[in-house]
Amino acid sequence: MAYKLNYVEADDILNKLQNEYKIYAPTRKKDKGSFSDTDLITYGQVNSFAEIEFNEKTKYSPKDIVFPITQTLFYFNGDEYIEAEEDTDKVIVFLRPCEVNAFKRLDKIFLENGPEEDIYYKRLREKVKFAVIECTEGFDSCFCVSMGTNETDDYSIFLRISEDEVFCEVKDDSLTQVFVDQEEVEFTPEFIQENEVAVEVPALEDITTDLFESEIWKEYSKRCIGCGRCNMSCPTCSCWTMQDIAYKDNENLGERRRVWAGCHIDGYTEMAGGHDFRTNYGDRMRFKTMHKIYDFRKRFDIDMCVGCGRCEDVCPKYISFVGAIKKLNQAIKEGKADA
Ligand code: SF4
Ligand code: SF4
Repeated sequence: MAYKLNYVEADDILNKLQNEYKIYAPTRKKDKGSFSDTDLITYGQVNSFAEIEFNEKTKYSPKDIVFPITQTLFYFNGDEYIEAEEDTDKVIVFLRPCEVNAFKRLDKIFLENGPEEDIYYKRLREKVKFAVIECTEGFDSCFCVSMGTNETDDYSIFLRISEDEVFCEVKDDSLTQVFVDQEEVEFTPEFIQENEVAVEVPALEDITTDLFESEIWKEYSKRCIGCGRCNMSCPTCSCWTMQDIAYKDNENLGERRRVWAGCHIDGYTEMAGGHDFRTNYGDRMRFKTMHKIYDFRKRFDIDMCVGCGRCEDVCPKYISFVGAIKKLNQAIKEGKADA
């Protein structure tokens, strides 16, 4: 079923949905940007249609809805533990097709990467429905078409936003009752077919082990500063570390938390005894690049990177992920020429 709404009707629908769901969407946080007098565009809970920012790319992705920055897993008391209570809120998140595809990558990591599903992820993920915002032009640095993440059919609602109208396709029967009074129309979702940025991801068989030793990674040892901004803004980076927090008054009492971590950040590969096996920033860039376009594909048959371009947008040293893939392609070509 598809409907045409004006903005007042769209706001009314959003209000009705809030009776059952928390609504998350791209939103503008005034004066919260990295530089003075700039706004931060990021995902957050919204209470009205007017709060949704439809025209700018967010700095961060919506992954923290299912993978919170800090998440208490359980509380301990000597030999006993109590699992942290489940968050029971149901969520609808307004997002773009690449983000839905990013959730699919997170699903692979948390639900299909071993014999056990991650229950802390699963119980949040099961409560999330997608409202996809049509994206036919993309933003600077997006390369979703190259990564094959420009389209999706996994959504409950699909929206096309024009200056004074909203077209909605509703696929989820449990949501149709809030649209009953609306005018039905014919509507076919569209997806972006070409980005300004494009890159060819090398075939698995072309990525040979000698490329792990290639000179191309050395440049990043000088340029990268290991700030980890790329990891934090990436919708598919899903590494964490564990922290046991003992309460001050009794060290047997406390809680275990998982907290975001990132492969570019100092200490990420530090092991017991102090041994650290990836201290060099170039090695970290190689690890991230290969994980996003090689290891993950070998395991799950899809690339981990969804081509959102955020890692490039936020890097203080202007390091481009597309640039890294292009250098890799060049090294492959030169290797073939030398053979
Ligand atoms: S473009 Fe960068 S931030 Fe976006 S998914 Fe790929 S690696 Fe992550
Ligand atoms: S954002 Fe840039 S400088 Fe910071 S860790 Fe990532 S690649 Fe390195």
